[in-house]
Amino acid sequence: MSPLVEVRDLKKHFPITRGVLARVSGQVHAVDGVSFHIGRGETLGLVGESGCGKSTVGRTVLKLLPPTSGRIFVDGADITDLDAARMFPYREKMQMIYQDPYASLNPRMTAGDIVGEPLIIHRSTAREERKERVARLFERVGLRPELMSSYPHEFSGGQRQRISIARALALDPELIIGDEPVSALDVSIQAQIINLLMDLQDEYRLSYLFVAHDLAVVEHISHRVAVMYLGRIVELTDKTSLFEMPLHPYTEALLSAVPVPKARAKRRKRTILTGDVPSPIKPPPGCHFHTRCRYAMPRCRQEAPALREVQPGHWAACHLHDGGVRFPLGHRS
Ligand code: SF4
Repeated sequence: MSPLVEVRDLKKHFPITRGVLARVSGQVHAVDGVSFHIGRGETLGLVGESGCGKSTVGRTVLKLLPPTSGRIFVDGADITDLDAARMFPYREKMQMIYQDPYASLNPRMTAGDIVGEPLIIHRSTAREERKERVARLFERVGLRPELMSSYPHEFSGGQRQRISIARALALDPELIIGDEPVSALDVSIQAQIINLLMDLQDEYRLSYLFVAHDLAVVEHISHRVAVMYLGRIVELTDKTSLFEMPLHPYTEALLSAVPVPKARAKRRKRTILTGDVPSPIKPPPGCHFHTRCRYAMPRCRQEAPALREVQPGHWAACHLHDGGVRFPLGHRS
């Protein structure tokens, strides 16, 4: 069976223009050849520092941004070149939840109208039927239906994200892309929203692309995790392998900043990630990570490592593993 979503060698470059003639003087390589798939009922976590291109991946998969190159398949169908009219049925299948629910909810609409709006646009559902459906969605995400006539500013941050989730669920989607959906919330509220998303996944067999900058957040919800650095995926594997035995030095550095139980911490050497992510306008040659990597070799400055399956189901883009898995990275020393 084909995966629900498959992305092949996706690139998204943004031109930089200068002068009154808007001459193109460069390109921002936001996404630079990314491939992955998401199965039905599966959550793929997509993590990396701010500016690594992870949010752009989410928006490009949904075709909110046109891809520069590469292919996007949904249910085995190539949607890359579909125009707005032919994308319409796919818009129902694929929904998005944003980081800041307040900014993404229309402040002049009631919460009930916000949740019911997709039913007007896509289904022309009659008023009473729509009201009934919205009330059920409110209950399902843990909001009292009486709140349907309230406005976004009358809700807390966590409640507003519940409204966003109810709206995303209105059309019975198969894929939800969460763009840092819990990053703006308090830790205790984050856990509630993640638990809600996991319950909904079990109930409706939803697939998620869960974008976050924090590995601790994706650990709980993800089945597999892809780590992005400067527009490329540098490691991709199941959650347990990633957290127990990261194969890429960047993942190792990200993990060393995640609070862990004492037993696991004993096996881990702390790696401080110094410096900022280099500019995606002029990424470093060779391995993009070589300017910050404590294992960098002369070869890393010239030759970009390919994302290879180093162990079954465990992909990494690092010259350290060219002859097979090289132990130890610092986390096992
Ligand atoms: Fe570090 Fe080289 Fe591996 Fe890049 S290829 S992560 S610079 S060791």
